[in-house]
Parts: sequence; structure tokens; C-alpha cells
Amino acid sequence: MLPDFGVKDKVIVVTGGGGAICGTMSRTFGEAGAKVAILDLRLESAQSIADEINRKGGTAIGLECNVLEKESIEKAAEAVVKEWGRVDILINGAGGNKPQATTNKDMSFFDLPADAIQWVFNLNCLGAMLPSQVFGKLMAEHGEGCILNISSMNAFRPLTRIPAYSAAKAGINNFTQWLAVDMAKNVSPKIRVNAIAPGFFIGNQNRDLLIDKETGDLTPRGKSIIDLTPMNRFGEFEELMGVTLFLISPASQFITGVVIPVDGGFSSFSGV
Ligand code: NAD
Repeated sequence: MLPDFGVKDKVIVVTGGGGAICGTMSRTFGEAGAKVAILDLRLESAQSIADEINRKGGTAIGLECNVLEKESIEKAAEAVVKEWGRVDILINGAGGNKPQATTNKDMSFFDLPADAIQWVFNLNCLGAMLPSQVFGKLMAEHGEGCILNISSMNAFRPLTRIPAYSAAKAGINNFTQWLAVDMAKNVSPKIRVNAIAPGFFIGNQNRDLLIDKETGDLTPRGKSIIDLTPMNRFGEFEELMGVTLFLISPASQFITGVVIPVDGGFSSFSGV
């Protein structure tokens, strides 16, 4: 029998669903026939992607949610359960870095402000743990489900200038394994937890670091990334969808606790 990559009629909650990567994911889930709940701090972005999915004949709702506040997540969870009665899959997509937590010629590691470091840890770690508590508990009621975290290449190979983001994403790899074990052993072996680790995709968070705003050419940092990527280019967000559907569908039903890089070979190349 052919493996089943389907998510039709599954209820999928996507945090950060109004953003670049998770917006693309949400649209793909909509096309695949899933019921998609798009959660974002920015309700307008979540709603506009939900509207787009519904216009194309899919099924989606947009909800305001702050992944750093349990009450806000619980409120969103209530709305999803009211609409569709259950939650099958959670994508922990909200995450990112901020310029104040990035070193530069005027800001060395020694001077990075504690509140900026804390902000990055909170968004990337706490912001995946709290939704996993709330939606994971709903999955536990049915004894099955699936959680997908979004890590980063930084987790395997820390990049210069972004120490908090690199450490936080390494934390997500560890948490993915931890929760996979806890769910399988203490809750249900049918609740799986995995992650993807995107390499370099141009998005709002990193555009200015990789492409010169004035000339449109690669920055020195962008050029060294391309030089270290055997496939010689940045990724397209759509190229994350195959592995995403694989990890949340029955096709991967014996896989839990893995982090799959999607990086054009970056993590395999020593540069020599
Ligand atoms: P993005 O900024 O386009 O999307 C992030 C979304 O999260 C935004 O819509 C934002 O409003 C939302 N958000 C922020 N704080 C929130 C909060 N407290 N509660 C709820 N929502 C909140 O970013 P992206 O590039 O699409 O990144 C998505 C994920 O992929 C992040 O975890 C990021 O770290 C990871 N990632 C991105 C890349 C890349 O190249 N873009 C590479 C590796 C990993």
C-alpha cells in the first residue's frame, strides 16, 4: 500500500500563522482539505490568510493569540474546540529574533541587553512550550495527535551575531526530543512530536541581514551563506511543505523526536 500523506479533515492549529513560513503552511493545509486555525498576535494577518483559504474553498479561522500567555492560548483553544470539536495537529510556528539581540560593530556580546536576550528565549522556547501544554492536553483526551516545532539551522551550527536565537533554537531541538519521549511514554504512543530546521529562506526577519537594501546584492553574510550551501541558493518557503506534510501525516507514524534540516546541504558542508 502507498504511504498516506493526507491531512484531509484534520484540525490543524498553526501559531504564528500570519507570518511568512506559517502563512505558507496554512495555505498548503487549506488546499490539502484540513481545517486550519490560524493563531497570531496580529489578528489582521491571521484573518487575511484565513479569508484567502476560505475564498479558495478551504476551511479556516483566524484567531488572536499571544503564545506567551497561557490564558490567551486557552481562549484560542476554546474557540477551536467550539468550531470543530477537537485538535489533531499543532504547529509551533511563532518565533524569531530581534535586532536588539543581535551583535554588530557597535554592540558586542558583552553589552547585549538582558531584556532582549530574554525576549528571544521567551518567544522561541516558552512560546512553543505553553501552546504544547494547552493543545497537547486536548490531544491527550483523544490519545492521539501530532506536534511540529520549527527549529532552525542555528540549532546545529550556531551562526555569528545571534547568540540568543541560536541557543533558543538549540533548546527547541532538545524540547522536541523531551516532549516526544514524555508523550509516548506517559500520555499516548500515538502522540508524536517532531521538528523541522529550516536553513536560509528570505523572510521579514532576515532580509536586511542577507540582501543589501539599496543595491539588492547579497550582503557579505548572504554571500557566505550561499558559498556554504552546496545547492547554491536560498530556499523557497514552499520547499518546507513536503517535509511538513510528511511529519504530520500517517506517512511518518513511527517517527517521533526527530529534527529534519531543510537547508540545501548547509549542515553537511564543512566549507572545505
Ligand atoms: P515571521 O516573522 O514572518 O512570522 C512569525 C509570526 O509569529 C508573525 O506573524 C508574528 O506576528 C507571530 N508572533 C510573534 N510573536 C508572537 C506571539 N507572542 N504570539 C503569537 N504570534 C506571534 O517569521 P518566519 O520567518 O515565518 O518564521 C517562522 C518560524 O520559522 C520562526 O520560529 C522562525 O524562528 C523560524 N525560522 C525561520 C527561518 C527563515 O529563514 N525565515 C529560518 C529558520 C527558522
